[in-house]
Amino acid sequence: MNYDRILIRYGELALKGKNRDAFESALMRNVRLVLRDYPHIRISRVYGRMYVELNGADADSVLAALQRVFGISSVSPVVRTAQSEEAIKEAALQLVRAIQPTPRTFRVETRRADKRFPVTSMDISRRVGTHILRNIGGIKVDLHQPDIVVQIEIRAEGTFLSCLTLPGPGGLPVGSAGKVLLLLSGGIDSPVAGWMMMKRGVTLEAIHFHSYPFTSERSLEKVRDLAHKLTRWGGKIRLHVVPFTEIQTAIRDNCPEEYLITIMRRFMMRIAERVAAKTKALALATGESLGQVASQTLESMNTINSVVNIPILRPLIGMDKTEITEIARKIDTFDLSILPYEDCCTIFTPKNPVTRPKAEIAAHYEEKLDVESLVADAVQRTVVEPIIGEKREMAADLF
Ligand code: ATP
Ligand code: MG
Repeated sequence: MNYDRILIRYGELALKGKNRDAFESALMRNVRLVLRDYPHIRISRVYGRMYVELNGADADSVLAALQRVFGISSVSPVVRTAQSEEAIKEAALQLVRAIQPTPRTFRVETRRADKRFPVTSMDISRRVGTHILRNIGGIKVDLHQPDIVVQIEIRAEGTFLSCLTLPGPGGLPVGSAGKVLLLLSGGIDSPVAGWMMMKRGVTLEAIHFHSYPFTSERSLEKVRDLAHKLTRWGGKIRLHVVPFTEIQTAIRDNCPEEYLITIMRRFMMRIAERVAAKTKALALATGESLGQVASQTLESMNTINSVVNIPILRPLIGMDKTEITEIARKIDTFDLSILPYEDCCTIFTPKNPVTRPKAEIAAHYEEKLDVESLVADAVQRTVVEPIIGEKREMAADLF
């Protein structure tokens, strides 16, 4: 089928009253961003909907890209016909024929916005329906639960038909809700946490703590690949890579084994808070889920939170591993996440990590360290990498 345009619907935005303009602009920007490799398409906005004029671009790949743009509730490929009854009938028939397997039942819905067209909506639906019944063997009309709905819109600017509606990811357009700094490890959870924040319209930056040579260049590359997977959901991500070796070594040499992980996390938060301030992120996010591992208890979260003032969001807090894994598969991060490269936590493997750490005790052990200069030094040596694109490419000009 040769489609002319894609219709974009965005349900949730319609509810947002006067913020709507900002949301629509953010959505428009993100649509442009994911479709930037198609020089001939044109994007327009009319009456609470958007259209992508394909001008020869491949409908399937454009549809697939749009299905990853948050804020979009559904998309439909559309054909344009002349504004005549004959043309509409023929186009409708071709649309239905193009669907595999042949639908058993259908219904026709017509909206006649251009009242100059001489036939009423009801009559058009009926006549087009009859035409389809006559030409496709075995097909029936079902007004209530049809396999497909043939939608016809007769507008002054053209007559449009579609009969396929594909779901979008829902949520809110990235860029409409402020910025969050995600603590991105190479695991399964934190990319999912980032995805969930983006789904609520957040612009994401990511921070990764890297302990070269304890952790390899490959493990950092994996984190870049994960960040890149996240950019496919309507965003671009700046990845802050923090050299963490000195801090880990200092902790290991000075603090008792059972508190290594707790103290390491407190350092991560201190550094992340400063990077957040620099980049104007209003919160941090992590992939923690309550009770998932020994270190993810409420006591532990308290002890970790107590060194910073910035809010720490934990979008996975109430989810099971199976639910998280399901999303990881859906967003295509799972296979990367399970690659067996070491991460900075695996080099600290205390036999008995404390499950109910106390802030006072952690603070007491930290007295042996020059916390301020370790943190300041790590922040100062942090490297920022812009990540964007279908292929991973550096594109500083887009930031
Ligand atoms: P994940 O699958 O996201 O790694 P996890 O269940 O393995 O999570 P932990 O390793 O205990 O849990 O880490 C908890 C959270 O701390 C992670 O979800 C992530 O947000 C953050 N984190 C851990 N290690 C790093 C790292 N090296 N760089 C950045 N953030 C990290
Ligand atoms: Mg981990």
